[in-house]
Amino acid sequence: MIRFQRVAMLGIGLVNGSLALVLRKRGAAGEIVACARRERTRERALALGLCDRALADPAETVRGADLVVLGVPPAAMGEVAEAMRPGLDPAAIVTDVGSVKAQIIHDVAPHLPDPSRFVPGHPVAGTEHSGPDAAFETLFVGRRVILTPIEDTDPEAVKAVRRLWELTGASVDLMTPEHHDRVLAITSHLPHLIAYTIVGTVADLEKQTQSEVFKYAAGGFTDFTRIAASDPVMWRDVFLNNREAVLEMLGRFTEDLVRLQRAIRWGDGDVLYELFSRTRAIRRAVIKAGQAYDRLPVPPEAAGENGEEADGERAEDQSAA
Ligand code: NAP
Repeated sequence: MIRFQRVAMLGIGLVNGSLALVLRKRGAAGEIVACARRERTRERALALGLCDRALADPAETVRGADLVVLGVPPAAMGEVAEAMRPGLDPAAIVTDVGSVKAQIIHDVAPHLPDPSRFVPGHPVAGTEHSGPDAAFETLFVGRRVILTPIEDTDPEAVKAVRRLWELTGASVDLMTPEHHDRVLAITSHLPHLIAYTIVGTVADLEKQTQSEVFKYAAGGFTDFTRIAASDPVMWRDVFLNNREAVLEMLGRFTEDLVRLQRAIRWGDGDVLYELFSRTRAIRRAVIKAGQAYDRLPVPPEAAGENGEEADGERAEDQSAA
C-alpha cells in the first residue's frame, strides 16, 4: 500500500478534507499538515482531525512533505504554488484537485522547481457544501478521478497519485488537460450554469409568483436550487478559467434550446417526443455507468441510527464540480 511520510494539504475544505480523512483511516500518511488563510478554518480542520498541524504559511506547510495536494479555488492555485515554493522539496510529488485543468497547469507549473513531479488531477465528486466541516470520508467512493499528466510528467509520480486516489475507493482515468476541460464543460460546468440561470430567473420574478415557485418547488426546481447553492467563488473561477470550452458548449446548447423553442411554438410534438425519448435512454446509461449519486453509499452522518442508508435527502444531496 502507498504511504507518504508527510502530506501537505494547501486548502483544507470539502475535497482536501475528505482526502485527508481517507489518508488517516488507511494509515497512508505519517503526518498531515494543512494550510488555510483563516484561523477559523485551521481550528476546525484540527478539531475535526483532518490534520496534525494547521498553518497559515504555504512554504512552512510544504516543508519536508513528500506529497503536496493543492485544494484551493482554481484561481488561487497559481499564487499558492508561488507562495509554497521556498519550502518545497524538488523531489516532492505535487498534485491538485481543481475542477479545471489547462489553466491550472499554466498557472502552477512555472512555480515548481521540478514540474515533472506535478500530476494535475480532478476528483469528479463533490457536494454543494464547503469548508472543513463539509468533508466526509466516503466522498470519493465509486467516483472517478481524472489525472491529466503532460508530456514531461514523471510516470512514477503519476503511478503514486493513481494509487493515492485508488485508496479512496475511486477509479482513475488519464486524459489530456484540454480533453478534460471539454468533457467537464458539458457534464458539469454547463449544468451548473443552467441551474444558476433558472434560480436567478426565479429570484427576479415578482413576489407573488416567487412564493408559489417555492410552494410547488418539487417539480424539478428543488434540484436546481441545490446545484445553484454551490460555492460562488469556486464556480466563478471555474467559468473564468474554462472559458473556451464552456462557451463552445453553451453555443451548442443555445442552438438546441432555440430548436425546442421553435418546436413548442409550431406545436411540433414529434421533435419534443423524439428528444425526450433519447434523453431517457441517456439517464439509463448514466446509471449503468455507476455515476448516478442515488446508487452510491451514503456517508455515515446521513445514515440512520442503525447505519441503514438514508434515502431522499442525502441521495440527492450531492453535485460534482
Ligand atoms: P472549500 O471547501 O471551499 O475549501 C477551500 C480551502 O481553500 C479552504 O481551506 C480555504 O480556507 C482555502 N482557500 C480558499 N481561498 C484561498 C486562497 N485564495 N488562498 C489560499 N487558500 C484559500 O473548497 P473545495 O470544494 O474543497 O474545492 C477545492 C478545490 O477542489 C477547487 O479547486 C475545486 O475546483 C475543486 N473541486 C471541488 C469540488 C466540489 O464539488 N466542491 C469537486 C471537485 C473538485 P481559507 O478560506 O481559510 O483560506
